[in-house]
Amino acid sequence: MDHSGRLRRLQAALDDHKLDWLLVTHLPNIRYLCGFTGSAGALLIGERGATFFTDGRYVTQARAEVVGARIVIARKAPALAAAEFLAASPIRAASARLGLEPQSVTVGMREQLAAVLKRKWKLVSAPPLIERARMVKDKEEIRRIGEAIRLGASLFRIARKKIRPGVKEVEVAAAMEYEARRAGAEGMSFSTIIAAGKRSAVVHGRASDARIPRRGFVVCDFGVILAGYCSDRTRTVHVGRPSSDARQIYEAVLEAQLAAIASVGPRATAADVDTAARKVLRKHHLARYFTHSTGHGLGLEIHEAPRLAAGQTQELQPGMVITIEPGAYIPGKQGVRIEDVVVVTPAGCEVLTPTEKELIVI
Ligand code: ZN
Ligand code: ZN
Repeated sequence: MDHSGRLRRLQAALDDHKLDWLLVTHLPNIRYLCGFTGSAGALLIGERGATFFTDGRYVTQARAEVVGARIVIARKAPALAAAEFLAASPIRAASARLGLEPQSVTVGMREQLAAVLKRKWKLVSAPPLIERARMVKDKEEIRRIGEAIRLGASLFRIARKKIRPGVKEVEVAAAMEYEARRAGAEGMSFSTIIAAGKRSAVVHGRASDARIPRRGFVVCDFGVILAGYCSDRTRTVHVGRPSSDARQIYEAVLEAQLAAIASVGPRATAADVDTAARKVLRKHHLARYFTHSTGHGLGLEIHEAPRLAAGQTQELQPGMVITIEPGAYIPGKQGVRIEDVVVVTPAGCEVLTPTEKELIVI
């Protein structure tokens, strides 16, 4: 991983945003910049260098993992230790600006930092510089995401075997998750969704105690974390003979998904991809049943920028890795979602998820 390049580019950007220092507290951002994978840390970045703060539990791990930053083992919260370090260092002007990550610093922590730093320091909300950099993946990241996707995709075989009328949704999820860990996954990238029968219309139907009915859709949405990177995939199968209604909904969602994939490319915006999916569903009178965005970036986190939704003007760029996951959910009846991960290329996109998507009847 190109940690030093990432740090260097960020340091070069601080001045443009009138920041003397940036305090990185969001753990995935810390991992992205210096490689640390533990659960307590703060990375203080200035023009001239970076210092990483963690606590006594991570002495060995920090030394093994952290690249490009000095390491300080603190006896207090790492962010506070960073503030004390700053308070003790000289500043050139009458005041200095410290950028904070507004999404990860609590109100309480901000007050504590202000108390340590006193008046000479101005605490400001930094723009999402690291999130923006993380949108475009490098080759090594795309390789890792591809491996996570291959492992994740293999779990669908388990789902197909396990899904039978009378089996509980959680039993299907448990079998998949057990196999994931056995195959080397660090964990699941989110709580496995197995939503059967009427519950298939519940968009985020985490696997429950409910039993799979004799007839109806089963939405399976699942992903693993492998070497730090997430996968995400949805397939919807049908138990028993599908009604013509069910077939129509499935075909419409599939058509919407293929249209959205076809629209992905460096000249499209995130909103364009969403529009492409919605247009197809509107034609099939299903647009009002498509109640979430068409997709999201993924990488170190399961949901990253960009978000593929109306009003999102972000242009797609080669190297962005995004999900394409339209769905239709008829409340109280049935729902379908189909989701793949694609990487934007100069010519369009490459689908990373193994692609068989015809309706599977169990
Ligand atoms: Zn998903
Ligand atoms: Zn997703």
